[in-house]
Parts: sequence; C-alpha cells; structure tokens
Amino acid sequence: MIPLYPLRFTPLFRRYLWGGRRLAEVLGKPIGVGIDYAESWEVSDHEHGQSVVDNGPLVGQTLGSLAREHAAELYGRHGAQPRFPLLFKYLDCQRVLSVQVHPDDAAAAKLTPPDLGKTEAWLILDAAPGAYAFAGLKRGFDRPAIERELQRGTLELCLNRIELKPDDCLLIRPGVIHALGPGYLAAEIQQSSDVTYRLFDFNRLGADGKPRPLHIEQGLAVSDFTAGPQIPAPPEVTADPRCQRLAACDKFVFDRWRLATGQTAKVGGDERFYILSVTRGSISLAPDLTVAEPLERGQTVLVPAGWGAVEIIAREASEVLQMYLP
Ligand SMILES: [Zn+2]
Repeated sequence: MIPLYPLRFTPLFRRYLWGGRRLAEVLGKPIGVGIDYAESWEVSDHEHGQSVVDNGPLVGQTLGSLAREHAAELYGRHGAQPRFPLLFKYLDCQRVLSVQVHPDDAAAAKLTPPDLGKTEAWLILDAAPGAYAFAGLKRGFDRPAIERELQRGTLELCLNRIELKPDDCLLIRPGVIHALGPGYLAAEIQQSSDVTYRLFDFNRLGADGKPRPLHIEQGLAVSDFTAGPQIPAPPEVTADPRCQRLAACDKFVFDRWRLATGQTAKVGGDERFYILSVTRGSISLAPDLTVAEPLERGQTVLVPAGWGAVEIIAREASEVLQMYLP
C-alpha cells in the first residue's frame, strides 16, 4: 500500500444563487471565464462532494477511500472516524445566503441517513462596502416572535445584523440562526455535514423561477432561541506570536500563521492531521517528496498525522490557515 503524504485535492466548485468571480480574482481558482461560482470545497469527504487527490502516487483517489484504508496514518491519535470529520471551503457571497440553522450531532444522528451536526467558523477575507451578515437573534425575540415574523415574510427583523470586516472570525454553533453575505469572500471550516435547514429566503425565487424549499419545522426544532447577538472574538495568542487562534471549540481548532518572507514555522508532529491553506503569499513545505511546487494563495494541503512534522517556508509575506481536531 502506498503510504500517505501531504495531499492536495482538485477543488470542487459549486454554483448557487449568490456566487461571484472572486474565487478566481482573489484566490486564483481556475473557474474559467464569465460564470459565477459560490464555493470551492477544498477538503471534503461527504456524499455531496468528495475531494480527489491531484498530486503524487495517489492521484485520482478520493479522500473518503483513503480515509477508510489509511485511517491510522491519517488520523493518528484520534483513531478511525466514520468519515473525514472536517470540511474546508472558500465562499464568495455576492448576495445574502438564506437564513439557516444547523442541528447538533445528537439531532443529526437521528436523520435518515444520519449525518453530523454542524459547527462552522467563518474568516472574512474580503468585504465589499456595505457587506453584512446575520448571526443570532436580536435581544428580546423569542420563538413566538420568530414564528410571527416568518409568517409575515420579515424574519430579518428578529436577527442580529452585523458588519464583519476582513480578518473577523465568527464561530457559529449548532442552533444559532445565521446568514452570511452579501459582499463577503470567506474561508469556512466546519464539521463535515451538509444538513442545513433554510428558515427564510428573503422571498426570493430560485434559478428555476420557484421559491427554494424551506424547512421551517425542522429548523425551529433545532434552533437555540437563547442565542442572542453573535460577535467576532478577537484572536488569541498562542505559544508562537506569529500564530493566532481564530476559533477553537470541541469540533476543531482554527489558527492563522502570519510569516514574513523567509520565515519558517513547524506544524504537526503531534499525531494529528493538519489542513493548511494559504490566504496570502506563497509557501513551500519541507520535507515534501511529492509536492515540489509551492503552495500559492487559495491552495490547500492536508498533512496526514503519520507524516509527522512539516516546515512551512514563507517564500514571501504569507498568511496560512491551520485547521485540526482538538
Ligand atoms: Zn451555515
């Protein structure tokens, strides 16, 4: 069996109602000309999108098949998982997304087929003038108020509207009612779940001219009506001042390295896998016998637990996201 090595994947591009061109313009994604795209799934082992390796001897294999066959090598101290537990993506939100809510693990496990719950965290990379999001409820709104405004088609009146700026990071726990956009380019780390209950779509029509389906009963059943205004937490310092902790919870840790030209940083070597993605600049990894090319802005690599430590070498002033299990 071929041992695992730092894996790069072909991005999975998604078109939704609300996409744009920044995945190409800012992150260099090969999305062709003219067509708007909403998401680039960078690392995913989900039935709605399987990452496929595009480097080295394992080229063409899916993350799902590798995760099953190489569980010990991939997961290290965390042991075999039902599927790769994290999903990392970039989003270009030109228009506001639907108002939505996600279940927690316990509620999602009861679905057919069972899924994971969804905790997610957004890091804002770019914000157009006037960009905003909704996160949590305004103070004083409870379930009856939500139901009333849903019936009137004015749910946004109940929601905490927040103007996120570049470098803001917001952790969204299960049950928190939220909507990202318009105007944001964001990186999102989340549990590998695709269970989204759409509560409200701003009375819009889908691409087929019909309203997109809503899931009000399921959504209200998992909503946390005590979740008031959500605001970004300032990053925490870590043992290395060049590495900031953007978000941490029981599902993932989300850090960001800021490195000057020529600086190096050691990642891993602690029996964990690491997802690394470059949001500014350009890096090399060492030792890396299979990825000779540098990792450029918008590109992502998964370092398996069994590979041990890697060294990031900043080829220019760089920012690198680092995501792993706690
Ligand atoms: Zn969401």
